[in-house]
Amino acid sequence: MLTVKYLNVSGKRVIVRVDFNVPLKGGEIRDDNRIQAALPTIKELLSKGARVILMSHLGKVKHKEAPEVVEEQKKKNNMAPVAVRLGELLGQKVVFVPVTRGEELEKAVAALKDGEVLLMQNTRYEKGEEKNDPELSAYWAKLGDAFVMDAFGSAHRAHASTHGIPSLLKAEGKQVAMGYLVEKEVANLKRCVEVKDEDRPYVAILGGLKVTDKIQVIDTLLKKCDYIIIGGAMSYTFRKAQGAQIGSSFLDEGALDYAKKCLEEAKGRIILPVDSIVTDSFEPVEGRRVEVAGADIPDGLEGVDIGPKTAELYKSYIEKAKMVFWNGPMGVFEQEEFQAGTRAVCEAIRDLKGKAFTVCGGGDSAAAVKQFGYKADFSHVSTGGGASLEMIQNDGHLPGIDVLGE
Ligand code: ADP
Ligand code: MG
Repeated sequence: MLTVKYLNVSGKRVIVRVDFNVPLKGGEIRDDNRIQAALPTIKELLSKGARVILMSHLGKVKHKEAPEVVEEQKKKNNMAPVAVRLGELLGQKVVFVPVTRGEELEKAVAALKDGEVLLMQNTRYEKGEEKNDPELSAYWAKLGDAFVMDAFGSAHRAHASTHGIPSLLKAEGKQVAMGYLVEKEVANLKRCVEVKDEDRPYVAILGGLKVTDKIQVIDTLLKKCDYIIIGGAMSYTFRKAQGAQIGSSFLDEGALDYAKKCLEEAKGRIILPVDSIVTDSFEPVEGRRVEVAGADIPDGLEGVDIGPKTAELYKSYIEKAKMVFWNGPMGVFEQEEFQAGTRAVCEAIRDLKGKAFTVCGGGDSAAAVKQFGYKADFSHVSTGGGASLEMIQNDGHLPGIDVLGE
């Protein structure tokens, strides 16, 4: 697959789909990580003498709502502050176009010189963006001579800016390619589904809330992995399926039959908690009970983290692994008292540094890894929550990547 490095784009208008979906509060950027992450691709294109046209979505704009609500959402998700921050980081002027179509945009694009950067308003200002509308895609595609996909976090969505534009440009014989960020994500995540002998034992660690959200990923990983370790709330649905008592732990009722079937088919390759941290209140109220329960959880208590014996058991699997894919925290890591399980997994993976290939993908799990300070100990921590999971469950395929072709 073509990457930005090999593009011939001197003097050309290059549309770059970036992920500038940064957290904003009152127009202030609270974390500019995503802008920083796009810099290598943007700089590469600028050094090649391209005219760079950046597009990204930012937050949500629900076009089905009343017009005044839509206006409110547009105001809240205005891309303007991102242009300012990007200009600071690049050390050069960024032309900001506050609209997503029309004369103002077309004139700004036409005025762009080699080595200059333009950022268009939030793609979601357009109703047709999320529908991959052909008219909108064609309109935007006309603004560019080439396309670079660097928004990994949006690559699982076939929208006008992630799918419509590249498919049209490609059909016209124009250059379409991956940016550096996407290239790295694709290489690392594909390795998790294209398992080689030397990657075994391959251990997957899954956690988080609902089994339903992760059925496809479990199915795919069961075919690839030697063991799947399960923690988090979803482990209790599996424990219930085994006939255990789970007290008032979170139960994904609709997934019980699936869990039973899955355990049968896995023939001992799914590893479940043998103890848990339990509480009588999910809310951090004063005087709540927090204790360790064994394999069964008594009535009135809910499991909120894996227990110490389970952490040891899971470490014993992880320490032998040659490859690890992890998605989903082991407990309610947002609360300090329920972090130990997720931390234990981080530590076990840290101890594999230099000895195994280790990947974390998922919104909350990646946040936990960063929050606890273990990011540098992983071979790769994905920047795309939903996208990384879909990449695994779809066996290495995503619409926004596949469209770029060979
Ligand atoms: P990811 O974003 O990494 O894919 P999920 O979104 O599936 O992960 O799950 C993360 C959420 O699961 C966290 O908010 C965490 O508090 C919650 N969670 C984990 N374990 C439990 C548990 N035992 N009970 C209730 N919630 C849990
Ligand atoms: Mg999540």
